Amino acid sequence: MVYCQWTKHCRGESRPAGLGLFASVDCEIFHKLASVQGARSEIVAAMGTFLPVLTDVEKRSLHERQPLPSAYLGLEDEEMDVRIAAARAALGDRLVILGHHYQRDEVIRFADYTGDSFKLSREIAKHPTAEFIVFCGVHFMAESADILGLPHQQVILPDLAAGCSMADMAAPDQLMTCWAELEQMGMASQIVPVTYINSAAAIKAFVGEHGGTICTSSNARATLQWGWDRREKILFLPDQHLGRNTAWQMGVPLDDMVVWDPDVPFGGLTRAELNRARLILWKGHCSVHVRFTVPQIEAVRRQHPGVRVIVHPEVPFDVLQAADDNGSTEYILRQVRAAPAGSVWAVGTEIHLVHRLAEEVAPEKTVISLDQVGCLCSTMFRISPNHLLWVLEGLLDGEVHNRVTVGESEKKWARIALDRMLSIQ
Ligand code: SF4
Repeated sequence: MVYCQWTKHCRGESRPAGLGLFASVDCEIFHKLASVQGARSEIVAAMGTFLPVLTDVEKRSLHERQPLPSAYLGLEDEEMDVRIAAARAALGDRLVILGHHYQRDEVIRFADYTGDSFKLSREIAKHPTAEFIVFCGVHFMAESADILGLPHQQVILPDLAAGCSMADMAAPDQLMTCWAELEQMGMASQIVPVTYINSAAAIKAFVGEHGGTICTSSNARATLQWGWDRREKILFLPDQHLGRNTAWQMGVPLDDMVVWDPDVPFGGLTRAELNRARLILWKGHCSVHVRFTVPQIEAVRRQHPGVRVIVHPEVPFDVLQAADDNGSTEYILRQVRAAPAGSVWAVGTEIHLVHRLAEEVAPEKTVISLDQVGCLCSTMFRISPNHLLWVLEGLLDGEVHNRVTVGESEKKWARIALDRMLSIQ
């Protein structure tokens, strides 16, 4: 594998995800952008127009991705809009389209419902008659929809390469090894496993089978309390930052937390360290949210005196400490919408959400991104209008492309874990 040398933007992962010789899909997109723009300084100069430039680059490389029939390549935006709308109308109540907040504008405008993972999970149950659920998000979200859906419902992910780098950081075999090592040390019975919803179905099934549950950024605090009400310790995966930030805000000192490295025997921890810990954090992160830094916050405070800085809790601990407020995407939207006219907000989460929020509240309020260049969820960005059109017209022709299914045994335990999640407020 060739690793990106563009260190500011490449703190990426080592998992290739079948997407070419880049350390991550972020690197792939940034390198393509770099080749068009010529230099990093030009990209920074283009910050205001970053997303359209990126979309242009991506359009030209669509043919390199999951193969699409040639009839779906090189289409004009206007034609795709008309055809997607027509297919959606023709499918009527047979179809529900869900769009995550981080989804690109050209796609999310066709969603029947938008929201974060938690909100969208709840929407699935409200549409028992829909035959097809097209999930404009990433792979783990489509799996959750299949787990929560009814047997006659088929869940479709328009591009199967739309994964999640964080979910990839917790592989099922790594969790099984971790649990076996904790059992070997006689500790597993003291631990309740909790996984963030950003994880594979097999991970969700494991926690369900072992008395645990799933959380989202909306209910992480209540979920940790749920876990500690049951057992002395929690194993929290895959996002160490959400776990650490949430527990710290509940009054748990950092000394009561340890980080389990799945690539090292026994997580790289001693028995004494594990004995002392109340929270065992999996060594995983979101490659989008770890791009936010304290110097970015310092810079925005210098440029915009009086600015309110609000971040998602997947950011590193020091960034959360330097911010004024934090919460799930739904929380961020609520706070900014409810803020007084004239207020200025710097938001630390995925760029599409921030741009849409900025447009929505302007001119009364000003919203800027903490990082205009680096905070794109490049995996979710893979759901292009071309892919959406292809799957919708396929349904009209009686063909189901890109169905995502979860095996029955995994589904049973993952469903138990998800039902526990939905019961925790
Ligand atoms: S923003 Fe991060 S955690 Fe969310 S889907 Fe993208 S890579 Fe995964």
